[in-house]
Formats: sequence, C-alpha cells, structure tokens
Amino acid sequence: MSLRPILIHPDPRLKKVCDPVTELSDDIRRLADDMLETMYDAPGVGLAAPQVGVMSRMLTMDCVKEEGAAPQPMVLINPEITWVSEETNVYEEGCLSIPEQYADVTRPAEVDVTWLGLDGNTYAERFSGLWATCVQHEIDHLNGKLFIDYLKPLKRQMITRKMQKLKREQARG
Ligand code: ZN
Repeated sequence: MSLRPILIHPDPRLKKVCDPVTELSDDIRRLADDMLETMYDAPGVGLAAPQVGVMSRMLTMDCVKEEGAAPQPMVLINPEITWVSEETNVYEEGCLSIPEQYADVTRPAEVDVTWLGLDGNTYAERFSGLWATCVQHEIDHLNGKLFIDYLKPLKRQMITRKMQKLKREQARG
C-alpha cells in the first residue's frame, strides 16, 4: 500500500465525468488499498478516485467518528443512487481537494445506493446521517462536481482564489 498525492482544486481532472470500472483487476484492488490508506492518513471520511488522478467510478469512505470505535472501511465501485429522501439535511462539508475550506450544503437526508464490491458482489444499502452526506459528496466527484458548486458564485470564487494561491505557494515549495 502507498499514499497517493491528492489533487487540489482547481484541476481539470476534478471536473470530468469518470468512467465505469469494467474489471476487478489487480490495479483496482491496489487503488482501493491506496485510497483507503490515503484517506485515513489525510485524515478524511471519504475519497473519490479522481481526487488521486484516476478517472474511474470508485470511492472509499469511513464515517465512524466515535472515539475508540472500530473502523468501517468501505470501497464502492460504480455506485448509483437509486432513491433519495424528501427530507433534507444541512452539513458543514469540506473536501480533501479543497483543504481547510468549509461550507453548509443541503442534501437529501437519506439515500439508497447500489454498488459493486471488491468481492464482485452487488450491494445495496440505505445511508443516513454523515454517511448519506459523504456518499453523495463522493459520488458527485465521480461526475465532476464539487461541494463548492452548491455555493453562491461569489463564495465559490473566493474559495477558488484561495486554492489558486495555495497551489502557487506549494509550487514554490
Ligand atoms: Zn471531496
């Protein structure tokens, strides 16, 4: 397993629609391991493949937050939202590709998702709470959408300018 560098917004790869995974290859298994390690290291509760520059429909998440609770790593391949609740939930979201920027985003409070597991089985589950917010945020990444796309243009531009500045500073070392 190894850590992979996380792309920082703005980056054209974060704006693209990702391709379905067609084969559970060794590359995909390695990617899943690397993404989990990278996500826990960050630390973050979710990571989508395009955030590490791989344009495939795959995400990892673990929204267990209680101190001392067992981790619950999840790998979702080709995830699809099949139902959303009318009830919504507001959560202050952040993103590993937009470090240290947070904003309230309104999303359905519960969602049903189907996906392919690394074992080749198809899974379906209803997510609620932080899990529901996280899985929607990560699936958005697979469609080239970021949480700041839900914000008013002025706020979005402000955050984008901060990220451009951050990237210039990082490039200078
Ligand atoms: Zn994100």
